[in-house]
Amino acid sequence: MVRTRFAPSPTGYLHIGGARTALFSWAYARKHGGKFVLRIEDTDLERSTKASIQAIHEGMSWLELDYDEGPFYQMERLQRYQEVAQQLLENGQAYYCYASKEELEQMRQQQLAAGLKPRYDGRWRDSKKTPPAGVKPVIRFKNPLSGYVAFNDLIKGKISVSNQELDDLVLIRSDGIPTYNFSVVLDDLDMRITHVIRGDDHVNNTPRQINILKALDAGLPEYAHVPMILGANGERLSKRHGAVSVTQYRDDGYLPEALVNYLARLGWSHGDEEIFSREQLVEWFDLASISRSPAKFNPEKLHWLNQQYLKKTDSNRLAELVKPFLSRDDCNFDQGPDLIAVIDLLKERVNTTEELADAAVFFFRQLEPSEELRQQFYTLESKTILSELLKKLIQLENWSRDAIHQTIKETVKELGVKFPKVAMPLRVMVTGEVHTPSIDAILELLGRDETLKRMTIQMDKFMDS
Ligand code: GLU
Repeated sequence: MVRTRFAPSPTGYLHIGGARTALFSWAYARKHGGKFVLRIEDTDLERSTKASIQAIHEGMSWLELDYDEGPFYQMERLQRYQEVAQQLLENGQAYYCYASKEELEQMRQQQLAAGLKPRYDGRWRDSKKTPPAGVKPVIRFKNPLSGYVAFNDLIKGKISVSNQELDDLVLIRSDGIPTYNFSVVLDDLDMRITHVIRGDDHVNNTPRQINILKALDAGLPEYAHVPMILGANGERLSKRHGAVSVTQYRDDGYLPEALVNYLARLGWSHGDEEIFSREQLVEWFDLASISRSPAKFNPEKLHWLNQQYLKKTDSNRLAELVKPFLSRDDCNFDQGPDLIAVIDLLKERVNTTEELADAAVFFFRQLEPSEELRQQFYTLESKTILSELLKKLIQLENWSRDAIHQTIKETVKELGVKFPKVAMPLRVMVTGEVHTPSIDAILELLGRDETLKRMTIQMDKFMDS
């Protein structure tokens, strides 16, 4: 049975790259009816935080990347790593190394000075020396001295590395905490992971991990190293390229299904399909279609994709997403027009739920037009026109979109002016803006009392007052 995992280090927010790796591992497991495991790699005590673990959980649950097993925490498995390290020591496949930090640094400097690649020189590998007193040793792995490690990466193809390139890596630090390469091997083994899908920043670790697995007489999982994500300028994606944290996108008003769709297309494709559901992703997903070259993160495309999803989303759901933004903008959405109707009117015009809220504000409180708009629209001529309209609207019996439209048309006809001469200043008076949906629809939703109140207030602010 296929078993995949996502193994984040909780040292920051869940970023776009991590979420994509998680998505690929999740999709692969789902496609094959397998299991998806969550493992928190929290052995970096200085950098791991509870807040980051929380962000990982929040991000994954928002994206609905549900896992079948875990979360497992490496810090709860220390005994297991110790146990296996002891076993390797007993079998002569690992050894204690007492080299001090200063000694290792000196070794490094000498190698660099001699034009060599810095590597541990194996000085304690077969040493019969008496260990120095008071030094807590590390446990190092006896990497094979000759031969090659080869594996067939499911994305990158055949990879082969000479053992001479690899030194004796530390398995357990002097404080008893395992290194990444050791814990990851035991975890993947114990959790029976069949497919290790991860970022290609780890591809150089894989030969080391394979050597440890071989020393343990264990079978190898398949490996799939996903190329990294770059910003538009070709540099590795970072904060400089805009938001990279998954929960930030949630907070900025993106829909999780849009982000899932976008992340899936980041380095993976199924023909020319741009918009597809989570179910289609699971049906189509395969590792062979992951691109071998890095993907480019394009925030505008994500923005566009979000709009495609947003306009098809049920307005009741959007209402719940918009409410926190409206509250933040001092809007009481329990009073005034029906929020669902407002959303129906606006959702085709915006890209995010935050933009949707921004566009809805004027329905819930009157916005003053900018000085620039007043100069342009609050002219004497407009005042005469709008006074006429106001008179008619006060008398209008049936406050419906059609009737309002007819009233505007009548005013236009009677005064012999063009439609925008009425509609534009009216729009500015009532909404404070010029880019809005059709004015009759807005007035209908705002209601008679609110419309007349707003118009009356604004009438006093025209040029001659
Ligand atoms: N904890 C590692 C990281 O966050 C991932 C290790 C792995 O997937 O093997 O980069």
